[in-house]
Amino acid sequence: MNEHRIQHLKNGINKDGQYVLYWMQQAQRVHYNHALMHAIEKANDLDLPVVIFFGLTPTYPDANRRHYQFMMEGLVEVKRLIEKCGMTFIFRVASPETGVLEYMKDAVLLVMDDGYLRHQKQWRKHVLNEAHRMTLSCGIDLVDSDVIVPVRFISDHAEYGAYTLRPKITTWYRDFRDFKRLPDVMNKALLCLPSDDGLDDINGLLDALSIDQTIQPSTMYHGGYLEASQRFSTFILDQGNHYIESNDPSKNLTSKMSMYLHFGQISSLELLDRLLVAQSQGQMDGPSLDAYIEQLLVRRELAFNYVTYQKGYDQFETMTEPWAYQTMQAHDLDYKPYLYSKQQMIDAKTHDVYFNAAMKEMVITGYMHNYMRMYWAKKIIEWSPSFKIAYETILSLNNTYFIDGRDPNSYAGVAWCFGKHDRPWIERTIFGKLRYMNDKGLERKFDIQKYVSQIDTYSR
Ligand SMILES: Cc1cc2nc3c(=O)[nH]c(=O)nc-3n(C[C@H](O)[C@H](O)[C@H](O)COP(=O)(O)OP(=O)(O)OC[C@H]3O[C@@H](n4cnc5c(N)ncnc54)[C@H](O)[C@@H]3O)c2cc1C
Repeated sequence: MNEHRIQHLKNGINKDGQYVLYWMQQAQRVHYNHALMHAIEKANDLDLPVVIFFGLTPTYPDANRRHYQFMMEGLVEVKRLIEKCGMTFIFRVASPETGVLEYMKDAVLLVMDDGYLRHQKQWRKHVLNEAHRMTLSCGIDLVDSDVIVPVRFISDHAEYGAYTLRPKITTWYRDFRDFKRLPDVMNKALLCLPSDDGLDDINGLLDALSIDQTIQPSTMYHGGYLEASQRFSTFILDQGNHYIESNDPSKNLTSKMSMYLHFGQISSLELLDRLLVAQSQGQMDGPSLDAYIEQLLVRRELAFNYVTYQKGYDQFETMTEPWAYQTMQAHDLDYKPYLYSKQQMIDAKTHDVYFNAAMKEMVITGYMHNYMRMYWAKKIIEWSPSFKIAYETILSLNNTYFIDGRDPNSYAGVAWCFGKHDRPWIERTIFGKLRYMNDKGLERKFDIQKYVSQIDTYSR
Protein backbone atom coordinates (compact mmCIF):
# COMPACT_ATOMS: atom_id res chain seq x y z
CA MET A 1 0.00 0.00 0.00
CA ASN A 2 1.23 3.50 -0.75
CA GLU A 3 2.44 4.83 2.62
CA HIS A 4 0.72 8.19 2.00
CA ARG A 5 -2.61 6.51 2.70
CA ILE A 6 -1.66 5.97 6.35
CA GLN A 7 -1.55 8.58 9.12
CA HIS A 8 -0.15 7.40 12.46
CA LEU A 9 -2.33 9.46 14.79
CA LYS A 10 -1.18 7.90 18.02
CA ASN A 11 1.96 5.90 18.62
CA GLY A 12 2.07 3.08 21.09
CA ILE A 13 1.28 -0.56 21.42
CA ASN A 14 -0.81 -2.26 24.06
CA LYS A 15 1.40 -5.20 25.08
CA ASP A 16 -1.54 -6.89 26.79
CA GLY A 17 -3.78 -6.37 23.76
CA GLN A 18 -5.67 -9.36 22.43
CA TYR A 19 -6.49 -8.24 18.91
CA VAL A 20 -6.13 -5.61 16.22
CA LEU A 21 -9.33 -3.59 16.04
CA TYR A 22 -10.64 -2.07 12.82
CA TRP A 23 -13.46 0.46 13.20
CA MET A 24 -15.25 0.21 9.86
CA GLN A 25 -17.17 3.37 9.04
CA GLN A 26 -16.64 4.86 5.59
CA ALA A 27 -15.23 1.83 3.77
CA GLN A 28 -18.12 -0.60 4.27
CA ARG A 29 -16.64 -3.44 2.27
CA VAL A 30 -14.07 -6.20 2.29
CA HIS A 31 -12.83 -5.84 -1.30
CA TYR A 32 -10.19 -3.17 -1.95
CA ASN A 33 -10.35 -1.96 1.63
CA HIS A 34 -6.92 -0.52 2.50
CA ALA A 35 -7.83 -0.04 6.17
CA LEU A 36 -8.80 -3.69 6.50
CA MET A 37 -5.64 -4.69 4.66
CA HIS A 38 -3.55 -2.65 7.12
CA ALA A 39 -5.36 -4.20 10.12
CA ILE A 40 -4.76 -7.74 8.82
CA GLU A 41 -1.09 -7.06 8.09
CA LYS A 42 -0.53 -5.68 11.59
CA ALA A 43 -2.42 -8.57 13.19
CA ASN A 44 -0.43 -11.12 11.18
CA ASP A 45 2.85 -9.49 12.30
CA LEU A 46 1.79 -10.03 15.92
CA ASP A 47 -0.03 -13.34 15.37
CA LEU A 48 -3.23 -11.81 16.71
CA PRO A 49 -6.82 -12.02 15.47
CA VAL A 50 -8.67 -9.15 13.79
CA VAL A 51 -11.86 -7.67 15.24
CA ILE A 52 -14.05 -5.41 13.11
CA PHE A 53 -16.45 -3.01 14.78
CA PHE A 54 -19.40 -1.30 13.13
CA GLY A 55 -21.62 1.16 15.03
CA LEU A 56 -25.05 2.03 13.67
CA THR A 57 -26.25 5.42 14.86
CA PRO A 58 -29.96 6.22 14.47
CA THR A 59 -29.05 9.91 14.31
CA TYR A 60 -26.79 9.98 11.27
CA PRO A 61 -27.13 13.50 9.80
CA ASP A 62 -30.04 13.69 7.29
CA ALA A 63 -30.34 9.90 6.94
CA ASN A 64 -33.73 8.20 6.51
CA ARG A 65 -35.11 4.71 5.92
CA ARG A 66 -34.05 4.74 2.28
CA HIS A 67 -30.40 5.31 3.24
CA TYR A 68 -30.37 2.93 6.20
CA GLN A 69 -31.94 0.13 4.17
CA PHE A 70 -29.37 0.47 1.40
CA MET A 71 -26.53 0.56 3.89
CA MET A 72 -27.74 -2.44 5.86
CA GLU A 73 -28.15 -4.52 2.69
CA GLY A 74 -24.43 -4.00 2.16
CA LEU A 75 -23.51 -4.64 5.75
CA VAL A 76 -25.16 -8.05 5.87
CA GLU A 77 -22.84 -9.17 3.09
CA VAL A 78 -19.82 -7.62 4.79
CA LYS A 79 -20.48 -9.51 8.01
CA ARG A 80 -20.77 -12.84 6.20
CA LEU A 81 -17.57 -12.33 4.25
CA ILE A 82 -15.61 -11.14 7.26
CA GLU A 83 -16.60 -14.17 9.28
CA LYS A 84 -15.78 -16.42 6.35
CA CYS A 85 -12.28 -14.92 6.27
CA GLY A 86 -11.80 -15.79 9.96
CA MET A 87 -12.36 -12.40 11.61
CA THR A 88 -14.77 -11.28 14.34
CA PHE A 89 -17.50 -8.83 13.34
CA ILE A 90 -19.13 -6.70 16.03
CA PHE A 91 -22.32 -4.81 15.28
CA ARG A 92 -23.67 -2.29 17.78
CA VAL A 93 -26.64 0.04 17.61
CA ALA A 94 -24.67 2.96 18.99
CA SER A 95 -23.01 6.12 17.81
CA PRO A 96 -19.77 4.67 16.44
CA GLU A 97 -17.35 7.14 18.00
CA THR A 98 -18.54 6.18 21.48
CA GLY A 99 -19.41 2.54 20.78
CA VAL A 100 -15.89 1.71 19.61
CA LEU A 101 -14.24 2.93 22.83
CA GLU A 102 -15.37 -0.15 24.77
CA TYR A 103 -13.35 -2.39 22.45
CA MET A 104 -10.21 -0.26 22.39
CA LYS A 105 -9.08 -1.21 25.89
CA ASP A 106 -8.12 -4.71 24.74
CA ALA A 107 -6.82 -3.70 21.33
CA VAL A 108 -3.15 -3.56 20.44
CA LEU A 109 -3.90 -1.13 17.67
CA LEU A 110 -6.98 0.67 16.37
CA VAL A 111 -7.27 1.16 12.61
CA MET A 112 -9.84 3.70 11.36
CA ASP A 113 -10.81 4.31 7.74
CA ASP A 114 -10.79 7.97 6.70
CA GLY A 115 -13.97 9.97 6.12
CA TYR A 116 -14.00 13.47 4.70
CA LEU A 117 -17.21 15.10 5.89
CA ARG A 118 -17.19 17.32 8.98
CA HIS A 119 -18.99 14.93 11.33
CA GLN A 120 -16.81 12.04 10.17
CA LYS A 121 -13.69 14.04 11.04
CA GLN A 122 -15.19 14.99 14.40
CA TRP A 123 -15.93 11.34 15.19
CA ARG A 124 -12.33 10.34 14.52
CA LYS A 125 -11.03 13.27 16.53
CA HIS A 126 -13.29 12.29 19.41
CA VAL A 127 -11.91 8.73 19.41
CA LEU A 128 -8.34 10.04 19.43
CA ASN A 129 -9.05 12.50 22.25
CA GLU A 130 -10.80 9.84 24.30
CA ALA A 131 -7.91 7.43 23.81
CA HIS A 132 -5.56 10.05 25.29
CA ARG A 133 -7.98 10.99 28.07
CA MET A 134 -8.48 7.34 29.07
CA THR A 135 -4.69 6.81 28.78
CA LEU A 136 -5.22 3.84 26.50
CA SER A 137 -1.94 2.40 25.32
CA CYS A 138 -3.07 1.20 21.87
CA GLY A 139 -1.78 2.95 18.78
CA ILE A 140 -4.21 4.57 16.30
CA ASP A 141 -3.75 4.56 12.52
CA LEU A 142 -6.00 6.36 10.04
CA VAL A 143 -6.07 4.84 6.56
CA ASP A 144 -7.61 6.37 3.45
CA SER A 145 -9.53 4.02 1.19
CA ASP A 146 -12.25 6.36 -0.08
CA VAL A 147 -10.42 8.11 -2.89
CA ILE A 148 -7.78 7.04 -5.35
CA VAL A 149 -5.27 9.73 -4.38
CA PRO A 150 -5.53 10.89 -0.74
CA VAL A 151 -6.76 14.49 -0.66
CA ARG A 152 -3.96 15.91 1.48
CA PHE A 153 -1.30 14.29 -0.68
CA ILE A 154 -2.49 15.87 -3.90
CA SER A 155 -3.22 19.41 -2.68
CA ASP A 156 -3.01 21.57 0.45
CA HIS A 157 -5.70 24.06 -0.58
CA ALA A 158 -9.12 24.33 -2.19
CA GLU A 159 -8.65 23.80 -5.91
CA TYR A 160 -10.26 26.44 -8.11
CA GLY A 161 -11.69 23.95 -10.56
CA ALA A 162 -11.24 20.66 -12.36
CA TYR A 163 -8.64 22.30 -14.58
CA THR A 164 -6.33 22.99 -11.61
CA LEU A 165 -6.72 19.52 -10.04
CA ARG A 166 -6.57 17.49 -13.28
CA PRO A 167 -2.84 17.87 -14.08
CA LYS A 168 -1.82 16.93 -10.53
CA ILE A 169 -4.08 13.96 -10.15
CA THR A 170 -3.43 12.50 -13.58
CA THR A 171 0.30 12.69 -12.83
CA TRP A 172 0.01 10.84 -9.52
CA TYR A 173 -2.86 8.36 -9.67
CA ARG A 174 -0.75 5.48 -11.00
CA ASP A 175 1.27 5.56 -7.76
CA PHE A 176 -1.94 4.86 -5.88
CA ARG A 177 -3.00 1.80 -7.84
CA ASP A 178 -1.71 0.04 -4.80
CA PHE A 179 -4.15 -2.71 -3.92
CA LYS A 180 -2.99 -6.20 -4.77
CA ARG A 181 -5.09 -8.55 -2.63
CA LEU A 182 -6.22 -8.86 0.94
CA PRO A 183 -3.67 -10.92 2.91
CA ASP A 184 -4.86 -14.21 4.41
CA VAL A 185 -5.71 -13.91 8.08
CA MET A 186 -3.20 -16.01 10.07
CA ASN A 187 -4.85 -16.07 13.46
CA LYS A 188 -8.48 -16.97 12.84
CA ALA A 189 -9.62 -17.09 16.46
CA LEU A 190 -13.20 -15.84 16.66
CA LEU A 191 -13.69 -13.82 19.83
CA CYS A 192 -16.82 -13.68 21.92
CA LEU A 193 -17.32 -9.95 22.44
CA PRO A 194 -20.53 -8.01 23.13
CA SER A 195 -22.47 -7.50 19.89
CA ASP A 196 -26.09 -6.65 19.01
CA ASP A 197 -28.44 -8.78 16.93
CA GLY A 198 -30.38 -7.53 13.99
CA LEU A 199 -28.34 -8.19 10.87
CA ASP A 200 -30.36 -11.36 10.19
CA ASP A 201 -33.56 -9.27 10.06
CA ILE A 202 -32.80 -5.80 8.78
CA ASN A 203 -36.46 -4.89 8.26
CA GLY A 204 -37.21 -5.70 11.90
CA LEU A 205 -34.12 -3.82 13.04
CA LEU A 206 -34.91 -0.72 11.00
CA ASP A 207 -38.62 -0.75 11.92
CA ALA A 208 -37.58 -0.50 15.55
CA LEU A 209 -35.10 2.35 15.05
CA SER A 210 -36.24 5.91 15.66
CA ILE A 211 -35.27 7.16 12.22
CA ASP A 212 -37.27 9.04 9.58
CA GLN A 213 -39.34 6.18 8.15
CA THR A 214 -41.30 8.32 5.66
CA ILE A 215 -38.86 8.04 2.77
CA GLN A 216 -39.26 4.52 1.47
CA PRO A 217 -36.37 2.36 0.24
CA SER A 218 -35.77 2.33 -3.48
CA THR A 219 -37.33 -0.60 -5.26
CA MET A 220 -34.92 -0.14 -8.14
CA TYR A 221 -31.55 -0.03 -6.38
CA HIS A 222 -30.31 -2.40 -3.70
CA GLY A 223 -27.18 -2.10 -1.61
CA GLY A 224 -24.13 -4.31 -1.34
CA TYR A 225 -20.86 -5.12 -3.03
CA LEU A 226 -22.29 -7.99 -5.06
CA GLU A 227 -24.99 -5.77 -6.53
CA ALA A 228 -22.45 -3.01 -7.27
CA SER A 229 -19.99 -5.42 -8.80
CA GLN A 230 -22.61 -7.08 -11.00
CA ARG A 231 -23.92 -3.70 -12.16
CA PHE A 232 -20.42 -2.54 -13.02
CA SER A 233 -19.67 -5.68 -15.04
CA THR A 234 -22.90 -5.15 -16.97
CA PHE A 235 -22.02 -1.49 -17.46
CA ILE A 236 -18.62 -2.36 -18.95
CA LEU A 237 -20.16 -4.97 -21.21
CA ASP A 238 -23.22 -3.09 -22.44
CA GLN A 239 -22.57 0.62 -22.01
CA GLY A 240 -18.86 1.17 -21.37
CA ASN A 241 -17.94 1.76 -24.99
CA HIS A 242 -20.69 4.36 -25.33
CA TYR A 243 -19.96 6.24 -22.11
CA ILE A 244 -18.71 9.17 -24.20
CA GLU A 245 -22.40 9.80 -25.04
CA SER A 246 -23.57 9.38 -21.44
CA ASN A 247 -24.35 13.09 -21.01
CA ASP A 248 -27.70 12.35 -22.65
CA PRO A 249 -30.34 11.52 -20.00
CA SER A 250 -32.51 9.71 -22.54
CA LYS A 251 -29.79 7.08 -23.04
CA ASN A 252 -29.14 4.75 -20.17
CA LEU A 253 -25.35 4.96 -20.37
CA THR A 254 -24.23 5.79 -16.83
CA SER A 255 -22.89 3.27 -14.31
CA LYS A 256 -25.11 4.06 -11.24
CA MET A 257 -22.03 3.56 -9.06
CA SER A 258 -22.43 6.78 -7.02
CA MET A 259 -24.68 5.22 -4.36
CA TYR A 260 -22.30 2.30 -3.84
CA LEU A 261 -19.32 4.63 -3.70
CA HIS A 262 -21.15 6.82 -1.22
CA PHE A 263 -21.59 3.97 1.26
CA GLY A 264 -18.11 2.64 0.58
CA GLN A 265 -19.65 -0.59 -0.72
CA ILE A 266 -17.31 -0.53 -3.69
CA SER A 267 -13.98 1.24 -4.06
CA SER A 268 -13.28 3.81 -6.76
CA LEU A 269 -9.84 2.23 -7.14
CA GLU A 270 -11.42 -1.13 -7.92
CA LEU A 271 -13.60 0.54 -10.57
CA LEU A 272 -10.53 2.15 -12.10
CA ASP A 273 -8.57 -1.12 -12.12
CA ARG A 274 -11.50 -2.96 -13.74
CA LEU A 275 -11.84 -0.29 -16.41
CA LEU A 276 -8.15 -0.50 -17.26
CA VAL A 277 -8.37 -4.28 -17.52
CA ALA A 278 -11.44 -3.90 -19.76
CA GLN A 279 -9.49 -1.52 -21.97
CA SER A 280 -6.52 -3.89 -22.20
CA GLN A 281 -8.93 -6.63 -23.30
CA GLY A 282 -10.44 -4.38 -25.95
CA GLN A 283 -13.81 -4.10 -24.18
CA MET A 284 -13.63 -0.35 -23.67
CA ASP A 285 -12.32 2.25 -26.07
CA GLY A 286 -10.03 5.18 -25.27
CA PRO A 287 -12.47 8.11 -25.43
CA SER A 288 -15.08 6.39 -23.25
CA LEU A 289 -12.44 5.27 -20.77
CA ASP A 290 -11.02 8.80 -20.56
CA ALA A 291 -14.50 10.24 -20.08
CA TYR A 292 -15.24 7.86 -17.20
CA ILE A 293 -11.87 8.49 -15.56
CA GLU A 294 -12.56 12.23 -15.77
CA GLN A 295 -15.73 11.75 -13.69
CA LEU A 296 -14.47 9.11 -11.28
CA LEU A 297 -11.03 10.52 -10.65
CA VAL A 298 -11.06 14.25 -11.43
CA ARG A 299 -14.65 15.36 -10.70
CA ARG A 300 -15.25 13.04 -7.76
CA GLU A 301 -11.93 13.83 -6.10
CA LEU A 302 -12.44 17.55 -6.70
CA ALA A 303 -15.52 17.18 -4.47
CA PHE A 304 -13.38 15.60 -1.74
CA ASN A 305 -10.91 18.45 -2.09
CA TYR A 306 -13.85 20.86 -1.74
CA VAL A 307 -15.25 19.44 1.52
CA THR A 308 -11.75 19.18 2.96
CA TYR A 309 -10.67 22.75 2.35
CA GLN A 310 -13.90 24.77 2.02
CA LYS A 311 -14.77 25.02 5.71
CA GLY A 312 -18.42 26.05 5.30
CA TYR A 313 -19.11 23.66 2.42
CA ASP A 314 -22.73 23.11 3.54
CA GLN A 315 -23.74 26.71 4.32
CA PHE A 316 -25.10 29.14 1.75
CA GLU A 317 -22.90 32.01 2.99
CA THR A 318 -19.63 30.11 2.67
CA MET A 319 -19.96 27.55 -0.13
CA THR A 320 -19.04 29.47 -3.29
CA GLU A 321 -16.83 32.15 -4.85
CA PRO A 322 -16.84 35.95 -4.25
CA TRP A 323 -17.90 36.67 -7.87
CA ALA A 324 -20.91 34.40 -7.40
CA TYR A 325 -22.01 36.14 -4.19
CA GLN A 326 -21.67 39.53 -5.92
CA THR A 327 -23.90 38.54 -8.79
CA MET A 328 -26.43 36.80 -6.52
CA GLN A 329 -26.67 39.91 -4.38
CA ALA A 330 -27.30 42.05 -7.45
CA HIS A 331 -30.10 39.75 -8.69
CA ASP A 332 -31.68 38.43 -5.50
CA LEU A 333 -34.72 40.69 -5.89
CA ASP A 334 -35.28 40.14 -9.62
CA TYR A 335 -38.89 39.48 -10.64
CA LYS A 336 -39.67 35.74 -10.93
CA PRO A 337 -42.65 34.70 -13.05
CA TYR A 338 -42.94 31.31 -11.27
CA LEU A 339 -42.57 30.55 -7.58
CA TYR A 340 -43.16 27.03 -6.29
CA SER A 341 -43.16 25.70 -2.75
CA LYS A 342 -40.93 22.77 -1.81
CA GLN A 343 -43.99 20.53 -1.58
CA GLN A 344 -45.17 21.48 -5.08
CA MET A 345 -41.74 20.50 -6.34
CA ILE A 346 -41.76 17.17 -4.47
CA ASP A 347 -45.21 16.46 -5.88
CA ALA A 348 -43.91 17.23 -9.39
CA LYS A 349 -46.58 19.90 -9.79
CA THR A 350 -44.73 22.53 -11.77
CA HIS A 351 -45.37 23.72 -15.33
CA ASP A 352 -42.11 22.09 -16.49
CA VAL A 353 -42.51 18.47 -17.63
CA TYR A 354 -38.77 17.83 -17.58
CA PHE A 355 -38.37 19.03 -14.04
CA ASN A 356 -41.41 16.99 -13.01
CA ALA A 357 -39.97 13.86 -14.58
CA ALA A 358 -36.60 14.36 -12.87
CA MET A 359 -38.28 14.97 -9.52
CA LYS A 360 -40.39 11.86 -9.95
CA GLU A 361 -37.31 9.79 -10.72
CA MET A 362 -35.61 11.12 -7.61
CA VAL A 363 -38.56 10.56 -5.28
CA ILE A 364 -39.31 7.05 -6.54
CA THR A 365 -35.89 5.59 -7.32
CA GLY A 366 -33.40 7.66 -5.29
CA TYR A 367 -31.32 8.39 -8.41
CA MET A 368 -31.16 11.05 -11.13
CA HIS A 369 -28.91 11.45 -14.16
CA ASN A 370 -26.16 14.08 -13.75
CA TYR A 371 -27.46 16.34 -16.52
CA MET A 372 -30.96 16.29 -15.00
CA ARG A 373 -29.49 17.05 -11.55
CA MET A 374 -28.01 20.23 -13.02
CA TYR A 375 -31.26 21.16 -14.76
CA TRP A 376 -33.39 20.30 -11.72
CA ALA A 377 -31.28 22.45 -9.39
CA LYS A 378 -31.16 25.39 -11.82
CA LYS A 379 -34.96 25.34 -12.01
CA ILE A 380 -35.21 25.48 -8.23
CA ILE A 381 -33.01 28.58 -8.30
CA GLU A 382 -35.34 30.09 -10.91
CA TRP A 383 -38.50 29.35 -8.90
CA SER A 384 -37.39 30.20 -5.33
CA PRO A 385 -37.87 33.53 -3.53
CA SER A 386 -34.11 33.95 -2.95
CA PHE A 387 -30.79 32.26 -3.70
CA LYS A 388 -30.41 31.24 -0.06
CA ILE A 389 -33.83 29.57 0.01
CA ALA A 390 -33.03 27.88 -3.30
CA TYR A 391 -29.75 26.54 -1.90
CA GLU A 392 -31.42 25.19 1.21
CA THR A 393 -34.25 23.59 -0.79
CA ILE A 394 -31.88 21.92 -3.25
CA LEU A 395 -29.58 20.57 -0.56
CA SER A 396 -32.43 19.32 1.56
CA LEU A 397 -34.15 17.50 -1.33
CA ASN A 398 -30.80 16.19 -2.56
CA ASN A 399 -29.89 14.72 0.81
CA THR A 400 -33.36 13.40 1.57
CA TYR A 401 -34.15 11.56 -1.65
CA PHE A 402 -30.88 10.58 -3.34
CA ILE A 403 -29.40 7.33 -2.08
CA ASP A 404 -26.03 8.93 -2.81
CA GLY A 405 -27.01 12.13 -0.96
CA ARG A 406 -25.00 13.53 1.98
CA ASP A 407 -21.82 12.82 0.04
CA PRO A 408 -18.89 15.16 -0.75
CA ASN A 409 -20.33 15.06 -4.28
CA SER A 410 -23.67 16.34 -2.96
CA TYR A 411 -22.15 19.51 -1.50
CA ALA A 412 -19.85 20.10 -4.48
CA GLY A 413 -22.63 19.34 -7.00
CA VAL A 414 -25.07 21.75 -5.37
CA ALA A 415 -22.40 24.44 -4.93
CA TRP A 416 -21.53 24.09 -8.62
CA CYS A 417 -25.04 25.34 -9.43
CA PHE A 418 -24.10 28.49 -7.50
CA GLY A 419 -20.83 29.05 -9.38
CA LYS A 420 -18.32 26.89 -7.46
CA HIS A 421 -15.81 25.20 -9.79
CA ASP A 422 -17.62 27.00 -12.65
CA ARG A 423 -17.06 30.45 -14.24
CA PRO A 424 -19.10 33.62 -14.74
CA TRP A 425 -21.41 33.54 -17.78
CA ILE A 426 -23.18 36.33 -19.68
CA GLU A 427 -25.30 38.29 -17.22
CA ARG A 428 -29.05 37.74 -17.38
CA THR A 429 -32.13 38.26 -15.26
CA ILE A 430 -32.66 36.08 -12.13
CA PHE A 431 -29.38 34.16 -12.55
CA GLY A 432 -27.00 37.08 -12.94
CA LYS A 433 -23.69 35.60 -14.04
CA LEU A 434 -24.50 32.08 -12.81
CA ARG A 435 -24.85 29.50 -15.55
CA TYR A 436 -28.41 29.23 -16.84
CA MET A 437 -30.15 26.16 -18.25
CA ASN A 438 -33.50 25.94 -20.01
CA ASP A 439 -35.88 23.39 -21.54
CA LYS A 440 -34.93 24.47 -25.06
CA GLY A 441 -31.38 23.25 -24.38
CA LEU A 442 -32.68 19.85 -23.33
CA GLU A 443 -34.88 19.63 -26.44
CA ARG A 444 -32.09 20.75 -28.75
CA LYS A 445 -29.46 18.36 -27.41
CA PHE A 446 -31.41 15.21 -26.52
CA ASP A 447 -34.46 13.13 -27.23
CA ILE A 448 -35.71 14.41 -23.90
CA GLN A 449 -39.28 13.24 -24.49
CA LYS A 450 -37.89 9.71 -24.39
CA TYR A 451 -36.54 10.39 -20.89
CA VAL A 452 -39.97 11.68 -19.79
CA SER A 453 -41.68 8.60 -21.25
CA GLN A 454 -39.28 6.30 -19.39
CA ILE A 455 -40.01 8.02 -16.08
CA ASP A 456 -43.75 7.88 -16.80
CA THR A 457 -43.54 4.11 -16.54
CA TYR A 458 -42.39 4.35 -12.88
CA SER A 459 -45.13 4.30 -10.31
CA ARG A 460 -44.96 5.71 -6.81
C1 LIG B 1 -27.06 19.48 -8.34
C2 LIG B 1 -26.21 18.25 -8.26
C3 LIG B 1 -26.33 17.41 -7.18
C4 LIG B 1 -25.55 16.25 -7.08
N1 LIG B 1 -25.69 15.46 -5.98
C5 LIG B 1 -24.92 14.34 -5.85
C6 LIG B 1 -25.04 13.53 -4.70
O1 LIG B 1 -25.84 13.79 -3.81
N2 LIG B 1 -24.25 12.43 -4.62
C7 LIG B 1 -23.37 12.09 -5.61
O2 LIG B 1 -22.68 11.08 -5.47
N3 LIG B 1 -23.23 12.86 -6.70
C8 LIG B 1 -23.98 13.97 -6.86
N4 LIG B 1 -23.83 14.75 -7.97
C9 LIG B 1 -22.81 14.40 -8.98
C10 LIG B 1 -23.31 13.47 -10.11
O3 LIG B 1 -24.51 13.94 -10.63
C11 LIG B 1 -23.48 12.02 -9.66
O4 LIG B 1 -22.32 11.58 -9.00
C12 LIG B 1 -23.75 11.08 -10.84
O5 LIG B 1 -24.89 11.52 -11.53
C13 LIG B 1 -23.92 9.69 -10.34
O6 LIG B 1 -24.38 8.82 -11.32
P1 LIG B 1 -23.53 7.60 -11.88
O7 LIG B 1 -22.83 6.90 -10.78
O8 LIG B 1 -24.42 6.82 -12.77
O9 LIG B 1 -22.45 8.40 -12.71
P2 LIG B 1 -21.44 7.97 -13.89
O10 LIG B 1 -21.67 8.89 -15.03
O11 LIG B 1 -21.53 6.52 -14.17
O12 LIG B 1 -20.05 8.37 -13.27
C14 LIG B 1 -19.22 7.48 -12.55
C15 LIG B 1 -18.82 8.11 -11.23
O13 LIG B 1 -18.09 9.32 -11.48
C16 LIG B 1 -18.45 10.29 -10.48
N5 LIG B 1 -19.15 11.42 -11.09
C17 LIG B 1 -19.96 11.42 -12.17
N6 LIG B 1 -20.42 12.67 -12.43
C18 LIG B 1 -19.89 13.47 -11.47
C19 LIG B 1 -19.97 14.85 -11.19
N7 LIG B 1 -20.67 15.69 -11.95
N8 LIG B 1 -19.31 15.32 -10.14
C20 LIG B 1 -18.56 14.52 -9.36
N9 LIG B 1 -18.43 13.20 -9.58
C21 LIG B 1 -19.08 12.68 -10.62
C22 LIG B 1 -19.39 9.59 -9.51
O14 LIG B 1 -18.63 9.07 -8.46
C23 LIG B 1 -20.00 8.52 -10.38
O15 LIG B 1 -20.50 7.43 -9.63
C24 LIG B 1 -24.61 15.93 -8.10
C25 LIG B 1 -24.49 16.79 -9.19
C26 LIG B 1 -25.28 17.93 -9.28
C27 LIG B 1 -25.12 18.83 -10.47
